[in-house]
Amino acid sequence: MARQTLIAGNWKCNLNHREAIALVQKIAHGLPEKYYAKVEVAVLPPFTDIRSVQTSVDGDKLLLKYGAQDVSTHDSGAYTGEVSAPMLATLGCTYVVVGHSERREYHHETDELVGKKVRATLKHGMAPILCVGEKLEVREENGHVEHCTTSLLACLKGLKADQVGKVVVAYEPVWAIGTGKTATPQDAQEVCGALRAALAEKYGQDVADEVRILYGGSVKSANIGDIVAQKDVDGALVGGASLQAEEFTKLSAMA
Ligand code: PEP
Repeated sequence: MARQTLIAGNWKCNLNHREAIALVQKIAHGLPEKYYAKVEVAVLPPFTDIRSVQTSVDGDKLLLKYGAQDVSTHDSGAYTGEVSAPMLATLGCTYVVVGHSERREYHHETDELVGKKVRATLKHGMAPILCVGEKLEVREENGHVEHCTTSLLACLKGLKADQVGKVVVAYEPVWAIGTGKTATPQDAQEVCGALRAALAEKYGQDVADEVRILYGGSVKSANIGDIVAQKDVDGALVGGASLQAEEFTKLSAMA
């Protein structure tokens, strides 16, 4: 079965709940309904916006999906400041970003911790958007493919093949995030292809064919077309450009 393209907007630490409602409405109304049969579009707002996004999406029967940018490894308990997977599932989240490079960098998240977040997300019926990507120095030493495949398999450790099929992988080279430097479509294909091959070797070709692999890093309407034209790239995780309704709908329409 063909993999459905996914365009997911990571809002990071931007927009309050009122601004979130306005952006969701503009995005949803900026895309014709028939478009959603071809491409899935999701927004990933801060935790504080999710309830408002849910109300907007449900109330107006919008075809947008939504999710969170992180999740606790715990279902509940004395973990001050954490937001759990059951809470996000109750809010109707479809996706949870795990292992974003900003969390790996600023919160010292390891592959082991990210793996626990993958499992917490799947346990509650949501799909993790699992980010892997190399820093500039690793690419300069030509270690990017090895780095990304090793990181991916480490984060998936302990999962059964049918669970792996539900994971969305995002290849996000750290040097391309928020910098305006995009990997070439060939760079994106090289790593996304290697990630799929690693999944096939470990979990079988059927599972590898099911998994959606996104590219992320300074994606915009000017480059999305060439990126998603690559064989193993099934969409994009979009940061900065997802905060501008017109640009986000334009790039989504071009995917
Ligand atoms: C991201 O934060 O996941 C991202 C890809 O950001 P940007 O598109 O701004 O590079």
